[in-house]
Amino acid sequence: MIDVEKIRRQFPILERKVSGRQLVYLDNTATSQAPLSVVEEIGRIYRGHRANVHRGVHTLSQEMTALQEKSRDKVREFINAQSIEEIIFTRGTTESINLVAASFGQRFREGDEIILTVMEHHANIVPWQLLRERTRIKLKVVEINEKGEIDLEQYEALFSEKTVLASFCHVSNVLGTVNPVKEMIATAHRHGVPALVDGAQASPHIKIDVRDLDCDFYVFSSHKMYGPSGVGILYGKRELLESMPPWQGGGEMIAKVTFNHTDFADLPFKFEAGTPDYIGIAAFSKAIDFINETGLGNIERHELELARFAEEGLRNIDGIRIYGEAKDKGPVISFLLAGVHPYDLGLLLDKQGVEVRTGHHCAMPLMDRLGIPGTVRASFAVYNTLDEAKRLISAVETAASILK
Ligand code: PLP
Repeated sequence: MIDVEKIRRQFPILERKVSGRQLVYLDNTATSQAPLSVVEEIGRIYRGHRANVHRGVHTLSQEMTALQEKSRDKVREFINAQSIEEIIFTRGTTESINLVAASFGQRFREGDEIILTVMEHHANIVPWQLLRERTRIKLKVVEINEKGEIDLEQYEALFSEKTVLASFCHVSNVLGTVNPVKEMIATAHRHGVPALVDGAQASPHIKIDVRDLDCDFYVFSSHKMYGPSGVGILYGKRELLESMPPWQGGGEMIAKVTFNHTDFADLPFKFEAGTPDYIGIAAFSKAIDFINETGLGNIERHELELARFAEEGLRNIDGIRIYGEAKDKGPVISFLLAGVHPYDLGLLLDKQGVEVRTGHHCAMPLMDRLGIPGTVRASFAVYNTLDEAKRLISAVETAASILK
């Protein structure tokens, strides 16, 4: 059990008002709010430790480097990776996937095939399309059923001798579908194909164990996990990362440089050219502490309880249609009100202090598949309350009465 009121006191932003009403923040899928421990850690570092990492013998640089590397080990522990060499810091999930496409993708040849699913975020589509322009690879797409679940038979049938990668989300940011990624990874491996998991929507809610999953790459973002923005993670199996060329050149990723030749640094620094967001990275460790102290099991249970309650309430409103009915579903509700554009509904909810996301959610191919321009999306975090779920329902009721 969790004490939501105690948790809320760690998130002062939740006390603010929007449109004269108490804020109800339900856009957690886009970015969740940060607890005071994260905010204060950023301030503490700016006040007392800020210096560039891995560069100086001086005390501040040594301290800052230690803070950053402590965070790397915390991330390693959080996802049960074997070694810190397997944890690469990036700017976010998007950059992590671009890194894999730019580096691992160099071994792909014309006609090679990558398997994606129709529910992918643009971050797991466009980098592969950019690669396709350079190398003429092919993209194959797995379909979903009416509930928004992956068609596992079709998925397996898409593998061929030409398949070089399967890349799919753990949890859909639109439908909330929790994909059977362990099974999907095992299928890929049976065909001798590595698997990348986009865990942006899983890492805030579900225990990730990369060794148990046996994924080859796992990517996620700090800002969706109560951490600072501008920080992402690429987990990769060590032997794979070792076999991959650097994707960006610059300071910190080298061992020796002459004008004729450069020897690259060892992992993980080979993939971390330039000055990273070392303060964000260091403060991310406090977000992981927050999640660990609250308990992922408690977080998931609480969020799902709210999401199920809100979904039930919304279903009772005339004209509401919910998108995403998977058996295993995260705390995300995508919906539409018949005859009403999602933006209009979103604006009326904002006028009542209820912050939800509207639009295509960076998943235009999925919107095409569903035959809609977008949805309204409410998504829950551990600090949300039953009262807030009720506020969502009544705000949609009010909006429906105005718009219909
Ligand atoms: N993948 C999924 C499933 C997402 O939901 C998101 C963001 O919403 C991303 C990737 C991109 O994450 P970021 O913007 O942090 O790079």
